[in-house]
Amino acid sequence: METSDDKLERRLYSHDLAPLPKEMDLIFKTTPDQVVRPKYAQEVAQMMAKATATKKAIVPRGAGTWGLGGSVPVQGGYVLDMTSMDKIIAIDEKNLIVTVQPGITWKALSEALDAKGLFLPCYPSSAPSATLGGWIGTGGTGIGAYKYGTAGNIIRDLEVVLPTGHIIHTGDKYIPASGGGPNLTWLFVGSEGILGVITEVTLSVLPKPETLRAVAYSFEDLSNATPAFRKLSRSDVVPMHLMFGDRAHFEYLRAAGKHAPDVGCMITCALTGAKDKVDLDEKMLDDIMTSSGGVKMPADVAEHEWSERSYEFRVREMGIGAIPGEILVPIEGFDKTLADTRALVRKMKLKGPIIGTVADRNTIMLMPYYLTDEHNFFRSTAAMGFGKKLGDIAFENGGRPVGLGLFFAGNLARYRGKEGADLVRRIKTLVDPEGVMNPGKVVETGTRFGISLPAAFMNFGMNMMAGMKRLMPRDKVGEKELSRLRK
Ligand SMILES: Cc1cc2nc3c(=O)[nH]c(=O)nc-3n(C[C@H](O)[C@H](O)[C@H](O)COP(=O)(O)OP(=O)(O)OC[C@H]3O[C@@H](n4cnc5c(N)ncnc54)[C@H](O)[C@@H]3O)c2cc1C
Repeated sequence: METSDDKLERRLYSHDLAPLPKEMDLIFKTTPDQVVRPKYAQEVAQMMAKATATKKAIVPRGAGTWGLGGSVPVQGGYVLDMTSMDKIIAIDEKNLIVTVQPGITWKALSEALDAKGLFLPCYPSSAPSATLGGWIGTGGTGIGAYKYGTAGNIIRDLEVVLPTGHIIHTGDKYIPASGGGPNLTWLFVGSEGILGVITEVTLSVLPKPETLRAVAYSFEDLSNATPAFRKLSRSDVVPMHLMFGDRAHFEYLRAAGKHAPDVGCMITCALTGAKDKVDLDEKMLDDIMTSSGGVKMPADVAEHEWSERSYEFRVREMGIGAIPGEILVPIEGFDKTLADTRALVRKMKLKGPIIGTVADRNTIMLMPYYLTDEHNFFRSTAAMGFGKKLGDIAFENGGRPVGLGLFFAGNLARYRGKEGADLVRRIKTLVDPEGVMNPGKVVETGTRFGISLPAAFMNFGMNMMAGMKRLMPRDKVGEKELSRLRK
């Protein structure tokens, strides 16, 4: 097992997708004492024993592409970089089952399956870098969710090293987890690395569909698309995936020199199945979209958008910081959520392009991202209040923000209710009696001093940050690039 004590290398593990200003070090010890790259479950178990003996934290990390601090230490300790555990253990073509180590990326797995005529039903749009362990750990929604569900729906079995060092299996490779007591697999889906380290994953996969076709429709504005989402949810057409972007999103892509349509909003759908069935689905989808005010886009535009599904944040290539907020809302609450989100963006003087997906028949995933100067401490910290306010909008409209991580642990009771949150805390204590497993997240916002910040304090702080941002002069980030485009 490789380890590193190198100062610079350790520093690289002190943040994830969202950069943390170094001033945060006053509260959190984000730099680990050591970076460890295990190759086997037994080595992870050894590290658990070491962490317990030395009373140090142990933090599992995939590719660090999440933005809520889940893989960032709060009290230093050991970061387990799981990307060295990236082997495909077995592809069982006869039983449509694959067993892999958790550090493999979704893209690498998808390509390996493709070579065998198999198909990975769902994956995050960050598939080129995100690991299996990371997406299971966050329990997010993603590409393929509308038709096939999310990671949790295709897991047969997880091998997990518990904080006590015991190695368990949560399911069975060949039989779905029906009956036999509570479903342990789902306990770990979305547990954000606080209950154990996933060291092996067995998934159900599918035969590769005869056809995968992208089709796209433009709308005057994202707010005009709701009737189409509603009609679709009541129809027999079940696209693999539906994703959308608004005018501002495509404008910034064009400003970054990328090929992107000049439309108020575009919905791109991917249809999978036998060719005749996909032909029929496309006709029905055309009908649903155009009767709701949509205009069909040329096939090459749809195909290009589909090929770009993993690269939504290309605006970063211009050197502009783009920090996403992510919420899930019921379709019925979508119009109001969208209006509230846009009002928030205006009030906070941010640039906030909006992208998202239709996560299932009832739910929209909305991901506005704000453009910010990551190197300006006051601006970027104040803009972080946006995530808190966006979460509030989701709760008010019957939905919720996605993920708790370090900063939004105070939302646990809003997700599960007081008793539910207490149960989660009791489960955490039971599974991790020494409190070494990724401490300071989900059930509490921990600090380097071992004390937790009360939820009310965090919420107050985040609201203050949002308030500060409203008092600051208008954010000009991205304006130069846009005006160059308009010329
Ligand atoms: C361009 C882009 C697109 C994105 N698209 C999506 C999307 O479509 N859907 C979505 O849900 N998210 C998306 N994300 C967010 C993020 O990429 C995903 O959550 C991703 O799955 C995280 O994987 P990771 O390997 O980077 O995990 P990390 O960020 O390293 O970790 C995430 C969490 O999982 C835990 N963890 C990691 N590995 C293990 C393990 N082996 N055992 C136990 N716990 C573990 C960590 O402790 C942490 O709490 C996107 C991000 C970007 C930048």
